[in-house]
Amino acid sequence: MTANASGALVLFSGGQDSTVCLAYALERYECVETVGFDYGQRHGVELECRKRVRSEIARRFPARGERLGPDHMIDIASFGAIGDTALTSDAEIEMLASGLPSTFVPGRNLVFFVYAAALGYRRGLTTLVGGMCETDYSGYPDCRDATLRALEQAIRLGTEIPFEIETPLMWRTKAETWALAHELGGDTLVGLIVEETHTCYRGERGLRHDWGYGCGTCPACELRARGFAEWQEGGTEGKPHRQSG
Ligand code: ZN
Repeated sequence: MTANASGALVLFSGGQDSTVCLAYALERYECVETVGFDYGQRHGVELECRKRVRSEIARRFPARGERLGPDHMIDIASFGAIGDTALTSDAEIEMLASGLPSTFVPGRNLVFFVYAAALGYRRGLTTLVGGMCETDYSGYPDCRDATLRALEQAIRLGTEIPFEIETPLMWRTKAETWALAHELGGDTLVGLIVEETHTCYRGERGLRHDWGYGCGTCPACELRARGFAEWQEGGTEGKPHRQSG
């Protein structure tokens, strides 16, 4: 496929999904930049992972590394702080006990894309790429395709720039996301995702599973582990490969 001369800005957290999105964008766009949001996460693990993932992609895939432009970190701590105030109801605190992130605030992806559009406007990047998915997901309404299509329209109207929100994982199961990683970068990319990306809500990096690091019991770990197992069993397109520890 010929790379698109226009640029893309990838919403990049250092997790599995956004790493696959970064690899996807590097195959399609001449110039790719990344943006991350620091909203006061309890653990900085993801923020550390994003640096390593970027440098490892550039090292292991030099041609794609040449297309990889600057990384941008945006501090949105005031948004994250909403989750820590008295506005948080007891019901939401119960959700936290089950493993959802302590700083989870509804509508987070809406905020991310508005910031990304403002940044993209300044950087001349009109494609915004995000790893949202409504196939295997935790049920957040701001991950749904209908939400993001409406947001794309609002951003276009509000900036008079024909921004596109691309969500390559929207209709893929987690197993299909592993298959896409393999399609994009073979065992090298799959290995990089296993070793370097972070998904666990609890910030656990001590335990190494065949699918990567994490507590293994929070909803994010469960989704990642199940998807990996399904992919390894060969239930989806893409050749399954055993990862050696
Ligand atoms: Zn976990």
